[in-house]
Amino acid sequence: MQAPRGTKDIIPEDIIFWQHIYKIANEILSLHNYKEIRTPLLEYTELFQRTIGHYTDIVNKEMYSFTDQGDRNITLRPEGTASIARAFISNKLYVAQKISRLWYFGPMFRYERPQKGRQRQFHQLGIECLGSCKPIADVEVIRLAINILQELQCKEYTLEINSIGNIEERNCYQEKLIEYLIKYKQDLDKDSQQRLNTNPLRILDSKNIKTQEILNKAPKLQQFLNLESLNHFNEICKHLTYLQIPYKINEKLVRGLDYYNYTAFEIKSISSKNNDTICGGGRYDQLIQQLGGPTTPSVGWAIGVERLLIIVKEKILTENNNNTIYIIIQSKENYHEIWDIIKIIEKYKIKFELDLSNSTLSKQIKKAYQLNIKICFIIGEEEIKNKKITIKWLKNHTQQQIHLFNLTKYLQYIKEYF
Ligand code: ATP
Ligand code: MG
Repeated sequence: MQAPRGTKDIIPEDIIFWQHIYKIANEILSLHNYKEIRTPLLEYTELFQRTIGHYTDIVNKEMYSFTDQGDRNITLRPEGTASIARAFISNKLYVAQKISRLWYFGPMFRYERPQKGRQRQFHQLGIECLGSCKPIADVEVIRLAINILQELQCKEYTLEINSIGNIEERNCYQEKLIEYLIKYKQDLDKDSQQRLNTNPLRILDSKNIKTQEILNKAPKLQQFLNLESLNHFNEICKHLTYLQIPYKINEKLVRGLDYYNYTAFEIKSISSKNNDTICGGGRYDQLIQQLGGPTTPSVGWAIGVERLLIIVKEKILTENNNNTIYIIIQSKENYHEIWDIIKIIEKYKIKFELDLSNSTLSKQIKKAYQLNIKICFIIGEEEIKNKKITIKWLKNHTQQQIHLFNLTKYLQYIKEYF
Protein backbone atom coordinates (compact mmCIF):
# COMPACT_ATOMS: atom_id res chain seq x y z
CA MET A 1 0.00 0.00 0.00
CA GLN A 2 1.10 3.54 -0.76
CA ALA A 3 0.82 6.60 1.47
CA PRO A 4 -1.96 8.93 0.21
CA ARG A 5 -0.95 11.10 -2.76
CA GLY A 6 0.92 14.21 -1.69
CA THR A 7 1.92 12.85 1.72
CA LYS A 8 5.34 11.60 2.77
CA ASP A 9 6.75 9.53 5.59
CA ILE A 10 9.57 11.14 7.47
CA ILE A 11 11.80 8.17 8.01
CA PRO A 12 14.31 7.79 10.88
CA GLU A 13 17.20 8.70 8.58
CA ASP A 14 15.59 12.11 7.91
CA ILE A 15 14.12 12.86 11.31
CA ILE A 16 17.44 14.36 12.45
CA PHE A 17 16.93 17.27 10.04
CA TRP A 18 13.43 17.92 11.41
CA GLN A 19 14.61 17.73 14.99
CA HIS A 20 17.43 20.12 14.15
CA ILE A 21 15.07 22.73 12.69
CA TYR A 22 12.74 22.36 15.67
CA LYS A 23 15.69 22.77 18.04
CA ILE A 24 17.04 25.90 16.33
CA ALA A 25 13.56 27.44 16.17
CA ASN A 26 12.95 26.63 19.82
CA GLU A 27 16.27 28.13 20.89
CA ILE A 28 15.92 31.36 18.92
CA LEU A 29 12.23 31.91 19.61
CA SER A 30 12.47 31.10 23.34
CA LEU A 31 15.26 33.63 23.61
CA HIS A 32 12.79 36.25 22.35
CA ASN A 33 10.12 34.99 24.73
CA TYR A 34 7.95 33.33 22.08
CA LYS A 35 6.00 30.40 23.56
CA GLU A 36 5.10 27.28 21.65
CA ILE A 37 1.42 26.55 21.07
CA ARG A 38 -0.18 23.39 19.65
CA THR A 39 -3.69 23.63 18.30
CA PRO A 40 -5.84 20.76 16.95
CA LEU A 41 -5.33 19.61 13.37
CA LEU A 42 -9.11 19.76 13.00
CA GLU A 43 -11.18 22.92 13.15
CA TYR A 44 -14.70 23.84 12.15
CA THR A 45 -14.70 24.66 8.43
CA GLU A 46 -16.34 27.99 9.14
CA LEU A 47 -13.21 29.24 10.90
CA PHE A 48 -11.21 29.18 7.68
CA GLN A 49 -14.05 30.44 5.51
CA ARG A 50 -14.51 33.44 7.77
CA THR A 51 -10.84 34.31 8.11
CA ILE A 52 -8.89 33.24 5.03
CA GLY A 53 -11.82 34.29 2.85
CA HIS A 54 -14.30 32.59 0.53
CA TYR A 55 -12.63 33.68 -2.69
CA THR A 56 -9.10 32.60 -1.90
CA ASP A 57 -7.42 29.57 -3.46
CA ILE A 58 -7.09 27.89 -0.09
CA VAL A 59 -10.77 28.00 0.83
CA ASN A 60 -12.03 27.71 -2.70
CA LYS A 61 -10.22 24.63 -3.84
CA GLU A 62 -7.56 23.42 -1.46
CA MET A 63 -9.30 22.46 1.77
CA TYR A 64 -9.66 18.95 3.14
CA SER A 65 -13.19 19.25 4.43
CA PHE A 66 -15.69 16.62 5.52
CA THR A 67 -18.70 16.16 7.74
CA ASP A 68 -18.10 13.99 10.79
CA GLN A 69 -20.52 11.44 12.28
CA GLY A 70 -22.20 14.24 14.17
CA ASP A 71 -22.84 16.15 10.91
CA ARG A 72 -20.35 18.87 11.81
CA ASN A 73 -18.37 20.54 9.04
CA ILE A 74 -14.74 19.88 9.80
CA THR A 75 -11.56 20.88 7.95
CA LEU A 76 -7.98 19.70 8.35
CA ARG A 77 -6.19 22.98 9.02
CA PRO A 78 -4.62 24.46 5.87
CA GLU A 79 -2.57 27.02 7.84
CA GLY A 80 -1.84 28.10 11.39
CA THR A 81 -2.88 31.71 11.94
CA ALA A 82 -6.66 31.22 11.93
CA SER A 83 -6.40 28.40 14.48
CA ILE A 84 -4.13 30.45 16.69
CA ALA A 85 -6.49 33.42 16.56
CA ARG A 86 -9.30 31.04 17.52
CA ALA A 87 -7.24 29.52 20.36
CA PHE A 88 -6.19 32.97 21.56
CA ILE A 89 -9.86 33.85 22.00
CA SER A 90 -11.08 30.44 23.30
CA ASN A 91 -8.39 30.34 25.98
CA LYS A 92 -8.60 34.08 26.77
CA LEU A 93 -4.85 34.41 26.33
CA TYR A 94 -5.32 38.18 26.20
CA VAL A 95 -6.26 38.37 29.87
CA ALA A 96 -2.85 37.57 31.31
CA GLN A 97 -0.78 39.93 29.20
CA LYS A 98 -1.14 42.56 26.55
CA ILE A 99 1.24 40.98 24.08
CA SER A 100 1.25 37.27 23.27
CA ARG A 101 4.22 35.91 21.41
CA LEU A 102 3.45 32.47 20.05
CA TRP A 103 5.08 29.93 17.74
CA TYR A 104 4.06 26.61 16.24
CA PHE A 105 5.45 23.72 14.25
CA GLY A 106 3.21 21.13 12.66
CA PRO A 107 1.43 19.62 9.68
CA MET A 108 -0.95 21.55 7.43
CA PHE A 109 -3.20 20.14 4.73
CA ARG A 110 -4.03 21.50 1.29
CA TYR A 111 -5.47 19.67 -1.66
CA GLU A 112 -2.96 20.74 -4.31
CA ARG A 113 -1.17 19.12 -7.20
CA PRO A 114 1.88 17.53 -5.57
CA GLN A 115 5.30 18.50 -6.93
CA LYS A 116 8.71 19.36 -5.53
CA GLY A 117 8.14 21.54 -2.47
CA ARG A 118 4.37 21.17 -2.70
CA GLN A 119 2.59 18.46 -0.78
CA ARG A 120 -0.90 17.77 0.47
CA GLN A 121 0.33 17.23 4.00
CA PHE A 122 3.21 19.64 4.57
CA HIS A 123 4.65 21.35 7.62
CA GLN A 124 4.89 24.91 8.73
CA LEU A 125 6.97 26.61 11.36
CA GLY A 126 5.27 29.87 12.24
CA ILE A 127 5.18 32.72 14.71
CA GLU A 128 2.54 35.25 15.69
CA CYS A 129 3.05 38.43 17.68
CA LEU A 130 -0.39 39.37 18.98
CA GLY A 131 -1.32 42.70 20.52
CA SER A 132 0.90 45.37 19.00
CA CYS A 133 0.17 47.75 16.14
CA LYS A 134 3.67 49.18 16.18
CA PRO A 135 5.89 48.81 13.11
CA ILE A 136 8.65 47.59 15.39
CA ALA A 137 6.56 44.44 16.00
CA ASP A 138 6.63 43.76 12.24
CA VAL A 139 10.38 44.22 12.32
CA GLU A 140 10.82 41.88 15.30
CA VAL A 141 8.88 39.21 13.49
CA ILE A 142 10.68 39.62 10.15
CA ARG A 143 14.04 39.69 11.90
CA LEU A 144 13.28 36.40 13.65
CA ALA A 145 12.61 34.70 10.30
CA ILE A 146 15.95 36.00 9.06
CA ASN A 147 17.70 34.90 12.28
CA ILE A 148 16.36 31.37 11.91
CA LEU A 149 17.38 31.16 8.26
CA GLN A 150 20.85 32.42 9.06
CA GLU A 151 21.30 30.01 11.94
CA LEU A 152 20.39 27.22 9.49
CA GLN A 153 23.12 28.50 7.14
CA CYS A 154 20.52 29.48 4.56
CA LYS A 155 21.93 32.49 2.74
CA GLU A 156 20.47 32.45 -0.75
CA TYR A 157 17.19 34.28 -0.27
CA THR A 158 15.54 37.63 -0.83
CA LEU A 159 13.07 39.39 1.41
CA GLU A 160 10.24 41.07 -0.47
CA ILE A 161 7.97 43.44 1.32
CA ASN A 162 4.93 45.55 0.50
CA SER A 163 2.13 47.48 2.12
CA ILE A 164 -1.38 46.50 1.12
CA GLY A 165 -2.97 49.25 3.23
CA ASN A 166 -6.19 48.94 5.15
CA ILE A 167 -9.53 47.61 3.97
CA GLU A 168 -10.92 51.03 2.90
CA GLU A 169 -7.81 51.84 0.92
CA ARG A 170 -7.91 48.44 -0.71
CA ASN A 171 -11.59 48.75 -1.58
CA CYS A 172 -10.96 52.11 -3.24
CA TYR A 173 -8.06 50.68 -5.15
CA GLN A 174 -9.96 47.57 -6.09
CA GLU A 175 -12.65 49.64 -7.76
CA LYS A 176 -10.11 51.53 -9.85
CA LEU A 177 -8.23 48.34 -10.69
CA ILE A 178 -11.40 46.64 -11.94
CA GLU A 179 -12.32 49.74 -13.90
CA TYR A 180 -8.96 49.58 -15.65
CA LEU A 181 -8.73 45.81 -16.14
CA ILE A 182 -12.25 45.35 -17.43
CA LYS A 183 -11.17 47.06 -20.65
CA TYR A 184 -8.64 44.30 -21.24
CA LYS A 185 -10.73 41.43 -19.93
CA GLN A 186 -10.40 39.35 -23.09
CA ASP A 187 -6.61 39.54 -22.96
CA LEU A 188 -6.27 38.44 -19.35
CA ASP A 189 -5.51 34.81 -18.49
CA LYS A 190 -8.48 32.65 -17.50
CA ASP A 191 -7.73 32.72 -13.75
CA SER A 192 -7.44 36.48 -13.75
CA GLN A 193 -10.69 36.88 -15.68
CA GLN A 194 -12.42 34.95 -12.93
CA ARG A 195 -10.67 36.87 -10.20
CA LEU A 196 -11.99 40.10 -11.66
CA ASN A 197 -15.29 39.18 -10.01
CA THR A 198 -14.04 37.41 -6.92
CA ASN A 199 -10.58 38.49 -5.79
CA PRO A 200 -9.22 41.22 -8.12
CA LEU A 201 -6.14 42.01 -6.04
CA ARG A 202 -4.82 38.53 -6.62
CA ILE A 203 -4.55 39.36 -10.33
CA LEU A 204 -1.44 41.37 -9.43
CA ASP A 205 0.12 38.06 -8.46
CA SER A 206 -0.50 36.43 -11.86
CA LYS A 207 2.49 34.73 -13.48
CA ASN A 208 0.98 35.23 -16.96
CA ILE A 209 3.19 37.50 -19.11
CA LYS A 210 0.33 39.12 -21.03
CA THR A 211 -1.53 39.84 -17.80
CA GLN A 212 1.62 41.32 -16.30
CA GLU A 213 2.05 43.58 -19.35
CA ILE A 214 -1.49 44.87 -18.92
CA LEU A 215 -0.81 45.43 -15.23
CA ASN A 216 2.21 47.62 -15.97
CA LYS A 217 -0.05 50.51 -16.80
CA ALA A 218 -2.67 49.75 -14.16
CA PRO A 219 -3.21 52.06 -11.17
CA LYS A 220 -0.87 51.26 -8.29
CA LEU A 221 -2.04 50.30 -4.82
CA GLN A 222 0.55 52.64 -3.30
CA GLN A 223 -1.23 55.66 -4.77
CA PHE A 224 -4.25 54.82 -2.62
CA LEU A 225 -2.47 54.53 0.71
CA ASN A 226 -3.00 57.26 3.26
CA LEU A 227 -0.32 58.78 5.47
CA GLU A 228 -0.82 56.31 8.31
CA SER A 229 -0.30 53.28 6.08
CA LEU A 230 2.68 54.87 4.40
CA ASN A 231 4.27 55.84 7.70
CA HIS A 232 3.88 52.34 9.07
CA PHE A 233 5.57 50.91 6.00
CA ASN A 234 8.37 53.49 5.88
CA GLU A 235 9.11 52.92 9.54
CA ILE A 236 9.59 49.19 8.92
CA CYS A 237 11.87 49.88 5.96
CA LYS A 238 14.00 52.23 8.06
CA HIS A 239 14.47 49.61 10.77
CA LEU A 240 15.36 46.94 8.22
CA THR A 241 17.93 49.24 6.69
CA TYR A 242 19.39 49.96 10.11
CA LEU A 243 19.55 46.23 10.80
CA GLN A 244 21.26 45.70 7.44
CA ILE A 245 18.60 43.23 6.41
CA PRO A 246 18.42 43.58 2.61
CA TYR A 247 14.88 43.83 1.24
CA LYS A 248 13.14 44.51 -2.02
CA ILE A 249 9.87 46.41 -2.24
CA ASN A 250 7.51 44.42 -4.43
CA GLU A 251 4.44 46.51 -5.19
CA LYS A 252 2.63 43.53 -6.61
CA LEU A 253 2.98 41.36 -3.53
CA VAL A 254 -0.54 40.90 -2.12
CA ARG A 255 -0.56 37.37 -0.56
CA GLY A 256 -3.39 34.93 -0.89
CA LEU A 257 -5.27 35.39 2.35
CA ASP A 258 -8.00 37.93 3.09
CA TYR A 259 -7.05 38.82 6.63
CA TYR A 260 -3.87 40.78 5.96
CA ASN A 261 -3.52 44.56 6.14
CA TYR A 262 -0.58 46.96 5.95
CA THR A 263 2.49 44.73 5.83
CA ALA A 264 2.85 41.75 3.51
CA PHE A 265 6.16 40.00 3.00
CA GLU A 266 7.70 36.90 1.53
CA ILE A 267 11.11 35.33 1.70
CA LYS A 268 12.05 33.64 -1.55
CA SER A 269 14.87 31.30 -2.25
CA ILE A 270 17.16 32.38 -5.07
CA SER A 271 18.47 28.91 -5.79
CA SER A 272 15.29 26.99 -6.65
CA LYS A 273 13.14 28.11 -9.56
CA ASN A 274 9.74 26.66 -8.73
CA ASN A 275 7.87 27.03 -5.49
CA ASP A 276 10.52 29.36 -4.28
CA THR A 277 8.62 31.03 -1.46
CA ILE A 278 9.98 29.70 1.80
CA CYS A 279 8.23 32.11 4.13
CA GLY A 280 5.09 34.21 3.88
CA GLY A 281 3.66 36.60 6.39
CA GLY A 282 2.09 39.88 7.21
CA ARG A 283 0.01 41.98 9.56
CA TYR A 284 -3.57 41.17 10.47
CA ASP A 285 -5.08 43.81 12.71
CA GLN A 286 -8.75 42.87 12.37
CA LEU A 287 -8.69 39.09 12.39
CA ILE A 288 -9.13 38.48 16.11
CA GLN A 289 -11.80 41.11 16.50
CA GLN A 290 -13.58 39.70 13.51
CA LEU A 291 -13.70 36.30 15.24
CA GLY A 292 -15.27 37.82 18.33
CA GLY A 293 -12.14 38.61 20.35
CA PRO A 294 -10.83 41.93 21.62
CA THR A 295 -9.05 44.37 19.28
CA THR A 296 -5.68 42.72 18.82
CA PRO A 297 -3.45 44.03 16.05
CA SER A 298 -1.06 41.25 15.12
CA VAL A 299 1.69 40.19 12.78
CA GLY A 300 3.24 36.83 11.90
CA TRP A 301 4.70 34.48 9.32
CA ALA A 302 4.91 30.85 8.34
CA ILE A 303 7.86 28.99 6.88
CA GLY A 304 7.26 25.89 4.74
CA VAL A 305 9.53 23.33 6.37
CA GLU A 306 9.77 21.00 3.34
CA ARG A 307 10.84 23.94 1.16
CA LEU A 308 13.32 25.08 3.78
CA LEU A 309 14.78 21.58 3.94
CA ILE A 310 15.35 21.51 0.17
CA ILE A 311 17.81 24.35 0.72
CA VAL A 312 19.37 23.62 4.10
CA LYS A 313 19.42 19.84 4.33
CA GLU A 314 23.02 19.50 3.13
CA LYS A 315 24.11 22.22 5.50
CA ILE A 316 22.86 20.48 8.60
CA LEU A 317 25.78 18.56 9.97
CA THR A 318 24.56 15.35 11.45
CA GLU A 319 26.39 13.46 14.10
CA ASN A 320 27.32 10.15 12.67
CA ASN A 321 29.37 8.76 15.48
CA ASN A 322 27.63 5.82 16.97
CA ASN A 323 28.14 6.26 20.68
CA THR A 324 26.06 3.32 21.71
CA ILE A 325 26.85 0.43 24.00
CA TYR A 326 25.61 -2.73 22.34
CA ILE A 327 24.45 -5.23 24.94
CA ILE A 328 24.74 -8.86 24.01
CA ILE A 329 22.93 -11.35 26.18
CA GLN A 330 23.69 -14.98 25.81
CA SER A 331 22.11 -17.68 27.85
CA LYS A 332 19.24 -20.10 27.74
CA GLU A 333 17.30 -18.09 30.26
CA ASN A 334 17.27 -14.35 30.37
CA TYR A 335 18.65 -13.39 33.74
CA HIS A 336 16.97 -10.62 35.70
CA GLU A 337 20.38 -9.20 36.57
CA ILE A 338 20.45 -7.64 33.10
CA TRP A 339 18.01 -4.97 34.36
CA ASP A 340 20.41 -3.97 37.14
CA ILE A 341 23.11 -3.32 34.56
CA ILE A 342 20.70 -1.40 32.30
CA LYS A 343 19.59 0.77 35.21
CA ILE A 344 23.18 1.81 35.86
CA ILE A 345 23.82 2.62 32.18
CA GLU A 346 20.62 4.67 32.11
CA LYS A 347 21.82 6.64 35.11
CA TYR A 348 24.95 7.59 33.20
CA LYS A 349 22.81 8.64 30.22
CA ILE A 350 24.83 6.59 27.77
CA LYS A 351 22.89 5.36 24.74
CA PHE A 352 22.56 1.58 24.56
CA GLU A 353 20.85 -1.09 22.56
CA LEU A 354 19.88 -4.51 23.84
CA ASP A 355 20.18 -7.25 21.24
CA LEU A 356 16.83 -9.03 21.18
CA SER A 357 17.62 -11.47 18.39
CA ASN A 358 18.21 -14.68 20.33
CA SER A 359 21.03 -15.51 17.89
CA THR A 360 24.51 -16.81 18.67
CA LEU A 361 27.21 -14.74 20.30
CA SER A 362 29.23 -14.43 17.09
CA LYS A 363 26.17 -13.35 15.09
CA GLN A 364 25.38 -10.68 17.64
CA ILE A 365 28.94 -9.37 17.50
CA LYS A 366 28.77 -9.34 13.71
CA LYS A 367 25.58 -7.30 13.96
CA ALA A 368 27.35 -4.82 16.24
CA TYR A 369 30.12 -4.43 13.63
CA GLN A 370 27.49 -3.76 10.97
CA LEU A 371 25.96 -1.05 13.15
CA ASN A 372 29.36 0.58 13.45
CA ILE A 373 29.30 0.10 17.22
CA LYS A 374 32.42 0.81 19.24
CA ILE A 375 31.71 -1.04 22.49
CA CYS A 376 29.85 -4.27 23.28
CA PHE A 377 28.85 -5.51 26.70
CA ILE A 378 28.64 -9.28 26.68
CA ILE A 379 26.57 -10.75 29.46
CA GLY A 380 26.46 -14.51 29.21
CA GLU A 381 25.82 -17.29 31.67
CA GLU A 382 29.44 -17.26 32.86
CA GLU A 383 29.40 -13.53 33.41
CA ILE A 384 26.20 -13.65 35.44
CA LYS A 385 27.57 -16.46 37.57
CA ASN A 386 30.81 -14.56 38.28
CA LYS A 387 29.14 -11.14 38.56
CA LYS A 388 31.21 -9.85 35.66
CA ILE A 389 30.76 -8.22 32.27
CA THR A 390 32.89 -8.89 29.22
CA ILE A 391 33.64 -5.67 27.42
CA LYS A 392 34.63 -5.82 23.77
CA TRP A 393 36.11 -2.83 21.98
CA LEU A 394 35.26 -3.44 18.34
CA LYS A 395 37.61 -0.88 16.81
CA ASN A 396 40.82 -2.41 18.17
CA HIS A 397 39.42 -5.90 18.82
CA THR A 398 40.40 -5.92 22.48
CA GLN A 399 38.41 -7.55 25.19
CA GLN A 400 38.42 -7.47 28.96
CA GLN A 401 36.32 -8.49 31.92
CA ILE A 402 35.24 -6.19 34.69
CA HIS A 403 33.55 -6.84 38.00
CA LEU A 404 30.02 -5.50 38.37
CA PHE A 405 31.12 -3.37 41.31
CA ASN A 406 33.51 -1.61 38.94
CA LEU A 407 30.80 -0.86 36.40
CA THR A 408 30.09 2.72 37.43
CA LYS A 409 33.75 3.60 37.28
CA TYR A 410 34.05 2.01 33.87
CA LEU A 411 30.95 3.80 32.56
CA GLN A 412 32.44 7.09 33.65
CA TYR A 413 35.48 6.22 31.54
CA ILE A 414 33.30 5.28 28.54
CA LYS A 415 31.31 8.47 28.86
CA GLU A 416 34.48 10.51 28.68
CA TYR A 417 35.69 8.40 25.75
CA PHE A 418 32.40 9.05 23.86
P1 ATP B 1 2.32 29.12 -2.82
O1 ATP B 1 2.14 30.42 -3.52
O2 ATP B 1 3.65 28.48 -3.04
O3 ATP B 1 1.17 28.19 -3.02
P2 ATP B 1 1.11 30.10 -0.45
O4 ATP B 1 1.04 31.56 -0.66
O5 ATP B 1 -0.10 29.27 -0.71
O6 ATP B 1 2.34 29.49 -1.26
P3 ATP B 1 1.24 30.40 2.41
O7 ATP B 1 -0.17 30.12 2.64
O8 ATP B 1 1.73 31.77 2.53
O9 ATP B 1 1.69 29.79 1.00
O10 ATP B 1 2.13 29.45 3.36
C1 ATP B 1 3.43 29.82 3.82
C2 ATP B 1 4.48 28.87 3.32
O11 ATP B 1 4.08 27.51 3.49
C3 ATP B 1 4.77 28.97 1.84
O12 ATP B 1 5.63 30.01 1.57
C4 ATP B 1 5.41 27.63 1.57
O13 ATP B 1 6.77 27.63 1.94
C5 ATP B 1 4.65 26.71 2.46
N1 ATP B 1 3.60 25.99 1.71
C6 ATP B 1 2.38 26.44 1.33
N2 ATP B 1 1.70 25.49 0.68
C7 ATP B 1 2.50 24.40 0.65
C8 ATP B 1 2.38 23.07 0.12
N3 ATP B 1 1.26 22.66 -0.47
N4 ATP B 1 3.41 22.22 0.26
C9 ATP B 1 4.55 22.60 0.87
N5 ATP B 1 4.73 23.83 1.40
C10 ATP B 1 3.73 24.72 1.28
MG1 MG C 1 -0.71 28.04 -2.26
